[in-house]
Amino acid sequence: MPRAKAAATPAAKRAPPGAGLAEKLAKLGIAREADLVLHMPLRYEDHTRLTPLRDVKVGETVQTEGVVADTDIAYRPRRQLVSRIEPAPGEDGQGREWRAQLTLRFFSFYPSQQKALQPGARVRVYGDVREGYFGPEIVHPQFRVVAPGAPLPDRLTPVYPTTAGLSQETLRSVIARAIAADASRTRDTLPEELVRRWRQWKFGDAVEFLHHPPPRLPAIAQKSLDARTHPAWTRLKFDELLAQQLSMKAHREARASRRAPVLTGTGALTSALLARLPFKLTRAQQRVVREIAHDLKRTTPMQRLLQGDVGSGKTVVAALAALQAVESGRQVAFMAPTEILAEQHYRKLAVWLEGSGVPIAWLSGSLPAKARREAREALASGAAPFAVGTHALFQEGVEMPKLGFVIVDEQHRFGVAQRLALRGKGLAEAHQLMMSATPIPRTLAMTFYADLDVSVLDEMPPGRTPVATRLVNQKRRAEIVAWVGKLASEGRQAYWVCPLIEESEKLELQTAVALHAELTAAYAGTGIAVGLIHGRLKPDEKAAAMQAFIEGRTGVLVATTVIEVGVDVPNASVMVIEHAERFGLAQLHQLRGRVGRGSTESTCVLLFEEPLTDTAKARLRVIYEHHDGFEIARQDLLIRGPGEFLGARQSGEPLLRFADLERDAPMIEQARDAADELLRRDPEAAKAHVERWLGGRQEFIKA
Ligand code: ADP
Ligand code: MG
Repeated sequence: MPRAKAAATPAAKRAPPGAGLAEKLAKLGIAREADLVLHMPLRYEDHTRLTPLRDVKVGETVQTEGVVADTDIAYRPRRQLVSRIEPAPGEDGQGREWRAQLTLRFFSFYPSQQKALQPGARVRVYGDVREGYFGPEIVHPQFRVVAPGAPLPDRLTPVYPTTAGLSQETLRSVIARAIAADASRTRDTLPEELVRRWRQWKFGDAVEFLHHPPPRLPAIAQKSLDARTHPAWTRLKFDELLAQQLSMKAHREARASRRAPVLTGTGALTSALLARLPFKLTRAQQRVVREIAHDLKRTTPMQRLLQGDVGSGKTVVAALAALQAVESGRQVAFMAPTEILAEQHYRKLAVWLEGSGVPIAWLSGSLPAKARREAREALASGAAPFAVGTHALFQEGVEMPKLGFVIVDEQHRFGVAQRLALRGKGLAEAHQLMMSATPIPRTLAMTFYADLDVSVLDEMPPGRTPVATRLVNQKRRAEIVAWVGKLASEGRQAYWVCPLIEESEKLELQTAVALHAELTAAYAGTGIAVGLIHGRLKPDEKAAAMQAFIEGRTGVLVATTVIEVGVDVPNASVMVIEHAERFGLAQLHQLRGRVGRGSTESTCVLLFEEPLTDTAKARLRVIYEHHDGFEIARQDLLIRGPGEFLGARQSGEPLLRFADLERDAPMIEQARDAADELLRRDPEAAKAHVERWLGGRQEFIKA
């Protein structure tokens, strides 16, 4: 019931205001009383009118009033409280032959509710009416005991997102109080003239409207309110995006004012590496190497994103940049999202740097304690200039006193939350290079990644043979087994990727083991060795399995998706993916990118099982038709939307509360221009605006 003093719902009983309220509100992301103003309803209930009992219709949501005729506990089919209400004497057709009545049914209830519903009590009831055994009934209605003629609210009743133990009544009253208590909370942060020119509602009007909209809105207004396209919603979304833009700009400025070590380099190590490489850098690589080299010589910390399709050669670019830092007497940290990838980088760098006198420390979460300690000590003393590892590298106090440069490979795998963690580790002064094969959607580039500079590798190293993609029905799997066996006996190597089983890592593991056994049996006597690699292996077992494959001792490598990112074995020329319909496009593209790295013609077999969902069909068509990662990512976005790119799911925290990066994309540009203008015209207002929106949670938004 709206603005009710005494409410008889169970939730209200359980959550007396005050006790633990702050913690519960914190769960909703409400840190300060002022944040309550921005806690917006999910939907509304209309408690402004009473439907006479006789007009109550099945299928409608109504508020009605009556007098309790009887209330009993029934035991069949299960224990329940059943109450019947009728029109009050002298009202609503009382005395006619046909008497209206309504059943209230509670499958869980409190003694207090039973007591409140004693015969003769006048109750106001709200809920969805359904067809019951004895006529219309409402299951678990909201109700309260009222005096005759008790006034009705004149506004719709908001229903807020809430959390266990926090009742709507409590939330409504704390929010209403927070709004009323301090007029500055609903005052516009933006100058009136700009609000007018930007054609926005006033902030106070928007807030009042959204918390307490008037009843009986014209259909079109009601629709836009529900769809969150109403001008009141638009103002909130605009404000949110504006705050995000302002905070991003502030962040950029803060970076510009920080001092990073100037990494001039001497060229000694970099030219030695260039001389040693068995290939010549592509022009794109040369250009990007120059861009990064230039940034590293500046006193402002670099924050650059290197985008390049799978196989475009990002690693060597990173290595050259790293050596420039080492030449300048600084330490470098090179992070990868998985152990396998980190280890592979480590091995590759070790080969590239052989004889150069640059020791590399390898760090990973599951390294034996002793090796880990030694690696850490070498880093802490500054003796080792180069650290390669998973992000465990930065956990548990790994110290690198001369850290000057951080490289994050496969950045999109880390997500925004980890970007935040990195920033928090006192890396503010280090140059940062992030690498990703997945291009950033435009809306994200304009928002959460707006503070990054971007370099693009838009050219593939020469001599790559395009990968032929074949879509094959699982029914014909036996043919593929035979075909791969034939190729392997000719000395070619194949990856065989197990079906992705998202719900169960254990099941995925079992499948991998079973597949390994199956192929081993199938190839028995042919001399083809089948390897196995999955996430549960110990790091040294993984490394051994990988090494056997690299050296060609195993012909077929059965793998779970642990090999998805970055693994580089040029001799492997066949990729079989089981149940390809279960994989995402980015994953399929990454997996296919594991082959086609040498000079042999490569094939990627996508086994699929029917029936296929529409999305699966769409994905398979895209991967079949396209080879360019940027195009695939573009198609992927059309299918999925940008939200997932951010890893917002991993962190569990929504990036924006109200605005939707996809649907409200046009508003982003508007907000960006508005941010510029506001900063120019009224920096104080800009500050107040950011404080209102992000004061409680600025850290995350900045990430
Ligand atoms: P990614 O951009 O996907 O990380 P890698 O850095 O793993 O790609 O490079 C893929 C492969 O191409 C590696 O074997 C690498 O040594 C090789 N490579 C990189 N640059 C060149 C080049 N300019 N010419 C030939 N091969 C190259
Ligand atoms: Mg890579």
